[in-house]
Amino acid sequence: MTDHASEISKVTAPVDGMSRRSVRPLATLSAARDGWRFVILVEIENFTVLRRQHGRARTDALAGEITATLRELVDGATAISIGRGTIEMTFESEQRIALTTAITAIETAFERPVDVDGEDQQIDLLVGAAATSSLRRDDVRLIEAAERALAMAQVDRVAVVHDVTGSPETVDRIALARDLSHAILRDELILHYQPKVHVRRQEIASVEALVRWRHPVRGMIQPNDFIPIAEESRGIVALTLWTIRKVITDQRTLAEHGHDLTVFINIAGVLLGDTRFVRQACTLIQTSGAKIGFEITETSVIRDPESAIANLKVFAGIGITIAIDDYGAGLSSLAYLKQLPAKELKIDKLFVTQLTSSNRDPLIVRSTIDLAHALDMEVVAEGVETPSALALLSVMGCDMVQGYLISRPIAIEALIDFLDNDRHVATAENSRAALGRMATVWKRG
Ligand code: C2E
Ligand code: CA
Ligand code: CA
Repeated sequence: MTDHASEISKVTAPVDGMSRRSVRPLATLSAARDGWRFVILVEIENFTVLRRQHGRARTDALAGEITATLRELVDGATAISIGRGTIEMTFESEQRIALTTAITAIETAFERPVDVDGEDQQIDLLVGAAATSSLRRDDVRLIEAAERALAMAQVDRVAVVHDVTGSPETVDRIALARDLSHAILRDELILHYQPKVHVRRQEIASVEALVRWRHPVRGMIQPNDFIPIAEESRGIVALTLWTIRKVITDQRTLAEHGHDLTVFINIAGVLLGDTRFVRQACTLIQTSGAKIGFEITETSVIRDPESAIANLKVFAGIGITIAIDDYGAGLSSLAYLKQLPAKELKIDKLFVTQLTSSNRDPLIVRSTIDLAHALDMEVVAEGVETPSALALLSVMGCDMVQGYLISRPIAIEALIDFLDNDRHVATAENSRAALGRMATVWKRG
């Protein structure tokens, strides 16, 4: 890695003095196949102001210190000052998400004032970045793309990322990422809600908010097709803050109709390490007094356990219920599971939809329920599609169920109608009949 990093530093000469010859040929590139190469340009926005306040020499030294800090923040990165308060960073990773993680780390590191000769000094950074798959490496294009991204960041006041991989799929992703940045302003995002039913109490325990995008040209886009793009382009921050605001308003509407319910919001992994997001989310929720839950995955905690667990404790501390989503589908660690301030564990629908047709899945579900109870958590089974699955889950001691059997995710108006008419009760009746049939097949204990 050290060898590799020093090779890269040859390439990252100041943009002006860069020629195509300085780019290392593809054949000698030691990066993993399908890996990614990134350039981040960080501009000290208040560089001129700093110079006026602290003098030229001190400010240049400060830029050097900031460069050193940035280099340390990102594993294996080179960082060089290219003049006028701009720093160029280059690094590679097998994972595209590494760029998002790096930008978050940079923004977080300079969120608070730094000490300059005993004085608190705010450093305002602007970030423009570019990514390419290592195999298509073209450093000139990459740096030019980062420069364009920085120019956009100067206008938009948020970090901008350009992808220059150039495959049709990437182009499409770039187009979608760009459209997504306008989607909120143009009111194109909508929330649907899916109830969770408490099995023993036979009442709606809470609802989960699921976002959809009514695209003016492409029609309705499902979250699996744009949330990953939002995570990569950092649009996820604005999207999630929008979701929180909308949920707070919709919860008031529900209350006006006599329905007092906690609403759960899905929180993407990258946000768990983003202190600015954490602060903004907490402010919104605390000032509104809304009853909110956050669904997070264990995979997102494992990425950076220390800050994720600390932030989850901040959320739990202000009364946000934490649920572990997609349990069993991703990475899992008992060591972390024990440390999470979670009240609910949601078994991934992968295991639930096959529950009554597989030999293995009932055992997994059963032991997960026991594990969660041992850790003092309530268990939610998602993806409950049939009365027999509901019956079996009920026998196994599952606390809550969610799935198409009870309701698909529906708009707020339909949810109010659903709640007014106690629609879930009919489902329970149905499953009781199924329970009679199932009891002969599955015996508890
Ligand atoms: P998820 O959190 O696991 O949400 C459950 C998904 O399963 C939803 O898909 C839901 O429509 C679907 N589903 C519900 N009941 C059943 C069932 O009985 N059978 C089957 N086969 N599927 C069922 P959806 O709405 O397309 O959401 C997909 C994923 O997108 C969500 O998975 C969540 O990870 C993500 N997502 C949705 N909204 C947001 C959001 O606001 N923020 C973030 N970060 N992620 C979101
Ligand atoms: Ca969820
Ligand atoms: Ca889930």
